[in-house]
Amino acid sequence: MTTFTGHLTDAQAQRLVDGVLLETEAAEVEAHVAGCAACQAEVESYRLLGDALEGLEIPELPADFTVGVLERIETRERAVAHDRRAAAAIFGAALGGIVLAVVLLGAGTWAPEASRLVEGLGDAGRALRLSSDVLGPIVSALRIPIAAACAAAALPVLFALSRLMPSPRTEIA
Ligand SMILES: [Zn+2]
Repeated sequence: MTTFTGHLTDAQAQRLVDGVLLETEAAEVEAHVAGCAACQAEVESYRLLGDALEGLEIPELPADFTVGVLERIETRERAVAHDRRAAAAIFGAALGGIVLAVVLLGAGTWAPEASRLVEGLGDAGRALRLSSDVLGPIVSALRIPIAAACAAAALPVLFALSRLMPSPRTEIA
């Protein structure tokens, strides 16, 4: 079995330069290179490349490299945690504000306004109030789904607030 056909492969040229030709290919490869200018040039180019790489100095890491990397990671994590706390505080304040507005304004403002509106509608209003007497127990039975619907209505407000907040990553240089 022969491992060599035509010109040298890149791997064969590199093995020849490194002096690690396979036993099965060594005789053929060396014989071919001796009479082939193209392969001689290729082998020479690998030899030059190898010499150039050997001449390169491997840069030494500074003694505090690991400590420095860990410190930078810790600083970054602290910044992210700080931004998360700020975001939570803003969301909490916004949610608290919405709840407070509903509690304070709801009974005082919306109920009388709604009552006046209903009274202003006359017969239709009375019909509505009559039906609300009927609907009352149903509404109270459904108050949890209604509360959930109100919470869902507040989500777009929270989403809009979140868009106004600075991105947690922008502060990290
Ligand atoms: Zn050749």
